[in-house]
Amino acid sequence: MHIRVLGASGGIGDGRHTTSYLIDEDILLDAGSGVTRLSLEALAKIDHVFLTHAHLDHILALPPLLDSVMGSRSRPVTLHAIPEVLAVLREHLFNWQIWPDFSRIPNHEEPILAYAPIEMGVPVRLGAREITALPARHVVPAVGYRLRGSRGSLVLSGDTCSHAALWQAADATADLRHLIVECSFPNRLRRIAELSMHYCPETLCPDLAGLRDEVAVWITHMKPGAEVDILVELGAGAHCRPVQPLREGHIFEL
Ligand SMILES: [Zn+2]
Ligand SMILES: [Zn+2]
Repeated sequence: MHIRVLGASGGIGDGRHTTSYLIDEDILLDAGSGVTRLSLEALAKIDHVFLTHAHLDHILALPPLLDSVMGSRSRPVTLHAIPEVLAVLREHLFNWQIWPDFSRIPNHEEPILAYAPIEMGVPVRLGAREITALPARHVVPAVGYRLRGSRGSLVLSGDTCSHAALWQAADATADLRHLIVECSFPNRLRRIAELSMHYCPETLCPDLAGLRDEVAVWITHMKPGAEVDILVELGAGAHCRPVQPLREGHIFEL
């Protein structure tokens, strides 16, 4: 399993891109602006898209992606997400008002978009790869994911605030090698972090303390301009363990 980070920022500007990962050539996890880094040829090879939640920074490249590859694909792109997320996309995005309903284009029988509801904790197997939704806690229905290849697992939090079930799921992953966790705001914006149900260093450090030492921790979804403050605060936290910023272009092999 070859995982390439296409976007790892909580915003845009100066080359930053929002959340997206390309798994091998055929799976996209979240569809933030990082997707725009791919060639048209690479876009056309994407068969599956998994979403953590329906917030715009995680889905914004999906509508133009479908439009761009429609002429060069004979199979649908399958969109995997929990039912609550799929319902939001149907009602508020692919509704002919914001964007066409691609689950009926070019026709009912052979559309370019197929919806595939997933269940929390139930692995989706695609060849030797296993993708499992994990519980997260955010202002809208949201999940994290566990990605399992032949050489271990990676857990990513998606957008979340502190949620015991997510950390229990990470702890129960015996072959866990990497954890990618969001830390959107610096401590001075803790109030905003709490209102928007994101982490800041003061809330993340205690949760990281229980993680096994051998797991590498990567920080993502930092707000543009706040990255240095967040990393300094994570480094200075009383209970904090070493972390690294997740960078666009980074590759994980599992
Ligand atoms: Zn969000
Ligand atoms: Zn987000």
